[in-house]
Amino acid sequence: MTAHAHIDQDLDNAAIWCSARGEKLTDQRREVLSLLLTAPGSMKAYELLAEVQKRKPTAAPPTIYRALDFLVSVGLAHKLESMNAFVACCDFENPHHGVMLICDRCHGVSELHDAGLAARMQQEASKIGFAVAPQDVELHGACAACRAAGEESA
Ligand SMILES: [Zn+2]
Ligand SMILES: [Zn+2]
Repeated sequence: MTAHAHIDQDLDNAAIWCSARGEKLTDQRREVLSLLLTAPGSMKAYELLAEVQKRKPTAAPPTIYRALDFLVSVGLAHKLESMNAFVACCDFENPHHGVMLICDRCHGVSELHDAGLAARMQQEASKIGFAVAPQDVELHGACAACRAAGEESA
């Protein structure tokens, strides 16, 4: 797999994206983002801290939390409130709030690419005077791989 070349490219894109907005992808932020990009699923803050500490034993929790807050606030990562975990965004070109599909069996996370969906929900809510705050939407269920595995064993 050529995943690593891809990750360097993603990290470079993220750095460009940050500087275009007057922000900086510091080494710490870059490291946390690269861990999220290489993770098979979502990661909890303490798991990220443990990974960073393998390389930098002195890394303190607040630095990880600040890096995560930054990545989420600028849209390079999504926080999954229902799992208290984080995933890298799959589309740095167009940071956004996403519709996250969370598999309850393997805890894998996919993201729907549909800007119209979020706009539609806001539109419907505004009809009854409700202002929706910017946020990710989380939908729980079973992913294709887990469903296939379930059918085989059934
Ligand atoms: Zn996203
Ligand atoms: Zn699954």
